[in-house]
Amino acid sequence: MFLTQPLAAAVRERFGTPCYVYDRASLEAAARQALAFPNAFGFTLRYAMKANPNHAILKLFHALGLHIDASSDHEVERALRAGFEPGKIQLTSQAPSKNLKAHIERGVLYNACSLTQLENFGKLFPGRELSVRINPGLGSGSTNRTNVGGPGSSFGIWHEHLENVRALAARHGVKVTRMHSHIGSGTDPVVWKRVARMSLGIAGQLPDVRVLNLGGGFKIARVPADKATDLLDVGEHVRQEFTDFKQRTGRALHLEIEPGTALVANAGCIVASVIDVVDTGKDGYLFAKLDTGMNEVTRPSLYGAQHPIDVLATDERGSAKVVFVGPCCESGDILTPAPGDPEALAPRDVPRPHIGDLVVLGGAGAYCAAMSTINYNSYPQAPEVMHDPDGTLRLVRKRQTFEQVLANETSE
Ligand SMILES: *Cc1c(COP(=O)(O)O)cnc(C)c1O
Repeated sequence: MFLTQPLAAAVRERFGTPCYVYDRASLEAAARQALAFPNAFGFTLRYAMKANPNHAILKLFHALGLHIDASSDHEVERALRAGFEPGKIQLTSQAPSKNLKAHIERGVLYNACSLTQLENFGKLFPGRELSVRINPGLGSGSTNRTNVGGPGSSFGIWHEHLENVRALAARHGVKVTRMHSHIGSGTDPVVWKRVARMSLGIAGQLPDVRVLNLGGGFKIARVPADKATDLLDVGEHVRQEFTDFKQRTGRALHLEIEPGTALVANAGCIVASVIDVVDTGKDGYLFAKLDTGMNEVTRPSLYGAQHPIDVLATDERGSAKVVFVGPCCESGDILTPAPGDPEALAPRDVPRPHIGDLVVLGGAGAYCAAMSTINYNSYPQAPEVMHDPDGTLRLVRKRQTFEQVLANETSE
């Protein structure tokens, strides 16, 4: 973990807790590693910005040459404001765009995720090129909620509907020159490779496709029990598949991938404080209540996700088995559920916590600030800080004020 005890203490002193901290050196290292993804005929790295859309992270990734996967009209706008050229942004959204005309006229790329979306595009822009998102028939995620492929998933156009894709494209004279598949977050690398091959098979049936985007979903290790996906291994495999495809079909496809998690998850953490310690007797549990919980990191209560939690004790003390919980009046506000089971408690072995201790929760760069139950129990949204390589702490989003929590209420 990049946050040492003195640094965490400095964060609390200057910004209060809870506070997100991102490490620029770790963000850069993750981006450079992904940029080295093996490929046969050219490569583009898109950042799936829904993982963490903070402008400081977007600006850093823009400077490193990354492109953007935006999952809503609003994310397109956010990427533009962070300085991304329209041609580097692709919109892949569950919702049909309300702004499609403006986006396309500006040069933003479109990935139609349903036949309706393909038709909407065709009506507005006959003769133009677009991408289609295909559900290849198989998915894989760390939990069912993060699996977005296969028959139980509404994401993308079902792979057996290619005839409809070709017919709609022909009717409006649009050209499907790019194809996309993304089957989940925390995908099993064996399934990822299998789907890469299935996607190439589908691209083989869409003769104008020149770019194949294989999505994100690469696993990272937040806690020691996790096994990270080896990007080089997966990339080498995909490179070989693209080379074989060229031999079979004569078509040299450009490769895109669009990780979110792998680029940001381990570059972020939350600095928090122990606000109370309670227990439920000798057959019960010892609980440490933190000032962070589901309002900053919803993943444990949503998925039973595991995040490392360090108690930064500065004195000698014994260890204890502790269940960490958040400050909300909600029994689901738990930071240490059992893996994959948000309803079960899994105590952690840590230095026995005392009120006022600093605690750091790791692996919090992805889907934490971006995906939280902000303002539940009326707690203001936590601030975000960038830790620069020279050791500076830079505030990149302020803590919400109490007035801002109420700002949109009318006086009626
Ligand atoms: C969420 C998402 C990603 C990124 O997934 P990770 O698991 O964070 O890598 C990529 N592409 C699309 C279309 C997504 O919805």
